[in-house]
Amino acid sequence: MKEVVDDVRAYVKWAEESGLQILAQPARPQPAPSEPALKLPTLDQVREEIGECTRCKLHEGRHNIVFGVGNPRARLMFVGEAPGEDEDLQGFPFVGKAGQLLTRMIEAMGLQRDDVYICNTVKCRPPNNRNPEPDELESCEPFLKGQLASVKPEVIVTLGKFAAQALLRDQTPISRMRGHWREYEGIPVMPTFHPAYLLRSPNEKGKVWDDLKQVMGKMGLKR
Ligand code: URA
Repeated sequence: MKEVVDDVRAYVKWAEESGLQILAQPARPQPAPSEPALKLPTLDQVREEIGECTRCKLHEGRHNIVFGVGNPRARLMFVGEAPGEDEDLQGFPFVGKAGQLLTRMIEAMGLQRDDVYICNTVKCRPPNNRNPEPDELESCEPFLKGQLASVKPEVIVTLGKFAAQALLRDQTPISRMRGHWREYEGIPVMPTFHPAYLLRSPNEKGKVWDDLKQVMGKMGLKR
């Protein structure tokens, strides 16, 4: 019962914050007593809500909306920054060089990419891989929240400064935030460095591995 109440609370919170069209649907008939009154959004519903989005200027240059990929019931969710060129062309997150490193990080944890869910704070590629701007982060935020409400991971790993700052509403530099447990809506969040940064600074890989070991410990994964 508690789980149902938590689900409904999470849904209503997501709905209020998002102001999305899904909510404008007519009321359902009275549910049977054993059925929850409201359901969390499914990933398909969140994707449908995005549609052929033109909410911010990033739509002008994109080839594909890069929604997210992986297990819709994942225990672990990775949140990155924004699609790069490879992701924009293929429509999937983390498929370029940084993505290959992320895949190796996931495998080092004893998991496969299909076990986890991977997405970004913004779903369209910023031109020339510039940083996402505040209005772009804001336009896309309801969809990240919808993905989190749908997957309900046990643990979130944010990759790089933008994902950590967007989820945690904290401007602390990532170098200080990483490695310390935080919380988003009751879900433990481990901020760590972005794999693209590790490609430029491979001597920092040990720190990320330390962070991922903390995640493995929290999830009861064997080293
Ligand atoms: N960097 C990101 O933050 N996300 C991707 O999907 C690819 C590279």
